[in-house]
Amino acid sequence: MSAMDGERDTSSDGPTFEDLGLRPELLAALTALGYEEPTPIQTEAIPPLTEGRDLLGQAATGTGKTAAFSLPVLQRLPAERGPAPDALVLVPTRELAVQVSEALHKYGRDLGARVLPVYGGAPIGRQLRSLESGVDVVVATPGRALDLVQRGSLQLGQVGTVVLDEADEMLDMGFAEDLDAILDETPETRQTVLFSATMPRRLDALARRHLRDPVRITIAREQAAAGQSPRVTQTAYVVPRAAKSAALGRILDVESPTAAIVFCRTREEVDSLTETLNGRGYRAEALHGGMSQEQRDRVMGRLRGGTADLLVATDVAARGLDIDQLTHVVNYDVPSAPEAYVHRIGRVGRAGREGVAITLAEPREHRMLKTIEKVAGASIAVQKVPTVADLRARRLELTRAALRESLLTDELDRFRVVVETLSDEFDLMEVALAAVKLAHEAGGGSDDDEEIPQVSFRPDQGTSRGATKSGRRREGDDRPPARGARPGGPVARLFVGMGRDAGVRPGDLVGAITGETGLTGRDVGAIEIHQRFALVEVPESAADEVVQALRATMIKGRKATVRRDRS
Ligand code: ADP
Ligand code: MG
Repeated sequence: MSAMDGERDTSSDGPTFEDLGLRPELLAALTALGYEEPTPIQTEAIPPLTEGRDLLGQAATGTGKTAAFSLPVLQRLPAERGPAPDALVLVPTRELAVQVSEALHKYGRDLGARVLPVYGGAPIGRQLRSLESGVDVVVATPGRALDLVQRGSLQLGQVGTVVLDEADEMLDMGFAEDLDAILDETPETRQTVLFSATMPRRLDALARRHLRDPVRITIAREQAAAGQSPRVTQTAYVVPRAAKSAALGRILDVESPTAAIVFCRTREEVDSLTETLNGRGYRAEALHGGMSQEQRDRVMGRLRGGTADLLVATDVAARGLDIDQLTHVVNYDVPSAPEAYVHRIGRVGRAGREGVAITLAEPREHRMLKTIEKVAGASIAVQKVPTVADLRARRLELTRAALRESLLTDELDRFRVVVETLSDEFDLMEVALAAVKLAHEAGGGSDDDEEIPQVSFRPDQGTSRGATKSGRRREGDDRPPARGARPGGPVARLFVGMGRDAGVRPGDLVGAITGETGLTGRDVGAIEIHQRFALVEVPESAADEVVQALRATMIKGRKATVRRDRS
């Protein structure tokens, strides 16, 4: 850096904020915030917006949409500002209302802009008083905005600009009618701005109803990365369903994220995973739509304050959240749409910072992952879940690092007498080994020695699995197979410690095997169900994988003993 001082950085040839024609007060605020240059959506959106054009903007999460609309809104505030608001920003959630109004407040510092967040779940009294004393920009959730309009407390007759931020999300949350009603209260001459990370067709209809001759801007993800490309390492782990929470714990142990968000599909999953992770020693917090606003605030506070390291959330609850410290995004499931994946991983790698995106994929989710790679233009490396050996190596490495740190910085003399007395009796190396053992054990970490099954994606149709050598039924095997299918190649017989007594049927075993491994029904050979146990034949090449997978899964609601049959 110092060598370049005094020289103009010629690496970026894009426009500066100054080139976009922003007021000096805004430029000063941006400099103070350390914003060096506008992002692509800002470069394209700010000039038409400051001119007063309507605009329809689409860009992924984390591309700087907030400043793209906030700066022009502030730029256009009239010199004479009355008590009624000049601009209204509508956002889907309370968190976003707070976040966006903080951004407006920061950018508008030198303009003395009065910004008020307004949302449900908070006492209405204070919001009413603030509105009475006069505001310039109101940032509101649609429900509360409409409530205040209907009470006559929020007067929209002066509004020159309306922004719909995260418009796709507002539609998903069922706010379409509220939006129509609110917009109807604003002057027809107003400027209308719509920003969204995705552009579903329903959004087009909304835009047609309320926007006039809008400028349309779409920023592709790759373009958004230009200049200061976010470096997001994207990895997927193939994990059988039953082993997912264990695998996640293992992966987090190895990754040791500073702050991570784990996305789940449902509230129930959020709650149960949060519990599991807490049991594993993580400080995990749940965030979902079923929580009260107060609870959600508290959770966000703990994550920002560093007293929680993991946020377990549904998409809706987390949409649009901007958490600076975030280092990892985890998809506990493969998202069902590529857009959701892009949304989620947009939480890390912001403003050029490094980030990690991790996806847990079940064997049958191969195709979805491929689609995401194609649509999102992402490159997702499929990796193996860390083994017990990896984990142990990692823990030893942490212990070694801690000892080294202590040797370099700690005052250790008062322990000398201990080492000296012990060295009368033992070799110094042995004393050191014992001390390391104690330090290592004191370092904690769950002692989880369960191996997580290593599975892979299902091979494509038509490719045969394992050895090509034709299989032969074992001599002397006089027990008739319960199913006709036979795996090709050498087979292994597995013992499963549950049988007819437990209500096990062949389909339960086939289902468990195909659900948790890369095998198909055709790969599973003879199955015998006995009173108290069952025997099942699988390709020798997959036998260990199947044993591990079946151990980790529930059959008929129970865990069964599973091993290679020794008979
Ligand atoms: P979006 O609404 O597109 O998801 P945000 O507006 O929340 O994205 O911006 C993401 C992050 O990038 C925020 O932390 C914001 O402060 C930062 N940011 C926005 N514009 C710039 C810029 N021009 N330079 C540096 N950081 C920026
Ligand atoms: Mg945003």
